Amino acid sequence: MSQLSTNKRPLGLLRGRPRQVMTLLMLLSLTALTSLFWLSNIILSDRYLGQLAERAVVRSALQAGSVSEALFGSSVTASLVARDANIVAALSTIPSTPELTEHLIALREQTGVQSLSVFDVEGAPIARATAVESADILAESIPQALTQNSAVFERLPDRPGFAFAHRVAFAEEVLGSVLVQVNLADVVTGWSAQGDVVLISDPTGQILLSSRANLLGANLDDVASFAPGSASARLVASYLRLEGHSSSTIVFESETFLAIQRPVGFRDWEMTYLAATGSVEDRVNSVLALEVTVFAILAAMIFFVTARRASRESVRMRSESERLRDLNTRLTREIEERARVESSLAQAERSLEQSSKLAALGEMSAAIAHELNQPLAAMKTYIAGAQLLLRRNRTEEASASFGRIDDLITRMNALTAQLKSFARKGGDELAEVDLRTVVTEALAIMAPQTGQRGVEVIKYLPDSPVKVMGDQLRLEQIVINLVRNALDALRQEANPRVEIEVAEGETLARLQVRDNGPGFDGSPDQVFEPFYTTKAAGDGVGLGLAISSQIAADLGGRLTGRTGSNGGAVFELALPQVRSTSDE
Ligand code: ADP
Repeated sequence: MSQLSTNKRPLGLLRGRPRQVMTLLMLLSLTALTSLFWLSNIILSDRYLGQLAERAVVRSALQAGSVSEALFGSSVTASLVARDANIVAALSTIPSTPELTEHLIALREQTGVQSLSVFDVEGAPIARATAVESADILAESIPQALTQNSAVFERLPDRPGFAFAHRVAFAEEVLGSVLVQVNLADVVTGWSAQGDVVLISDPTGQILLSSRANLLGANLDDVASFAPGSASARLVASYLRLEGHSSSTIVFESETFLAIQRPVGFRDWEMTYLAATGSVEDRVNSVLALEVTVFAILAAMIFFVTARRASRESVRMRSESERLRDLNTRLTREIEERARVESSLAQAERSLEQSSKLAALGEMSAAIAHELNQPLAAMKTYIAGAQLLLRRNRTEEASASFGRIDDLITRMNALTAQLKSFARKGGDELAEVDLRTVVTEALAIMAPQTGQRGVEVIKYLPDSPVKVMGDQLRLEQIVINLVRNALDALRQEANPRVEIEVAEGETLARLQVRDNGPGFDGSPDQVFEPFYTTKAAGDGVGLGLAISSQIAADLGGRLTGRTGSNGGAVFELALPQVRSTSDE
């Protein structure tokens, strides 16, 4: 697990609440961007409008100058031509001479006006010099001119231009009139070419000259609605810093224009110069578009970097989860392995048990074989000896040999009987047995040995029967075993004594065999282990107590041993007591 934790990066503050932080950042940057666009919009509009206004002021001044110049010149031309001696002479001698026309042509070329015409006192045309083929269709100027001593001005109805009429008089006598026409089409065309809207109006508001032909004759107030006091107008005014020029924005043909109004300098005419603010908007918009593009590229770069980081992070996470999965698989495999080992361990334990059983069997077989081999070998020797004695007719001695052979057979019988009694466990039917009878019978069997060894045997038996469920013979075998062991232990004892006591208890009947021998060599429990013996080979096989304790267990009781108060051995057989109805 530790290898996982080492790879974990410490989580920063930002990673704690990434979503909220991201939203906040987005909002902040959006606000910042909006403010930036708004500010640059204002600043750029301001600046470009200022430039536009300055240019408009200069242009309008030039244009107004050119118009006034043309008109003023024409009016002067008219009054000069009216005093021309040739014309006066020609009008005095009607009909006109062809020389007059030629003179007019020369005059027209010198003055640069569009046409020059001479009329008689009735208003009938006499001579004419014109650059453009057009009729003098002016109805009012000529008669009016005859009545006054100044030029009469009239606007040409069909084209951008004007006419000046002046009477021709000599010695207070009115002889006729001259008409000078001036064409401003070229000027107007120049305006249109520059994309400007220029309107020249008289004090009544009537449009006299216009870069838009369709507006001629219309009223200025009808074609353009002023938007005075608008924000951009105030800005422009501050830029202009020019006295005598009024500026404002107007909406014209549903487009917003910066309007500059100035006097033309001719007959109180006024020039309205309209500069389209659309160009300003376009320029501002293009700069804003540039800004947007830059920010979009920036945003794309940020997005790219973030996405790369995120993808790297996801790769890392994937590899981590891969490792976790690997670890999991390994763990599962280890668990399976352990289960397998455990099961094979159990298997091994079982086979060990089996083999220890087999080993015990082998050990037992060896002991039994050894136990039987010795008497068999001895018997062979005795028989050979007896045969020899018989051949030599020493029957007395031969009979003694047979007696020894008989002893050996008895001994072998005892061994096989013990093994048999062990093999027969629990097979026989059990019956009520009086432990007093068991003791009496067993001591009767052992009487020769006890008597032979001079051992004092003391019995403590109650008057009434002490009954247990059991098998008389096997119980006797236990007592015989215990007494024989006692006799063996008492071999070196000066006053050998064995005490046998039977006692009734609450639930258990007890039978004790005590001796005054040397006691146990080791632990008293050890003596019940099969093949445990301290006796010389041939004297004991170590099965007596093992078999006896097994018989006691088979009968539902227990055989125990301990060291007595006098240092000798004390064996106690405890068995479930049977209470017969006759006892109560
Ligand atoms: P065996 O008599 O063939 O040795 P047992 O199982 O009868 O086999 O006895 C086992 C051992 O217990 C004896 O060898 C002896 O060491 C010990 N033992 C049994 N009874 C006594 C006793 N009364 N006093 C001292 N030791 C005893």
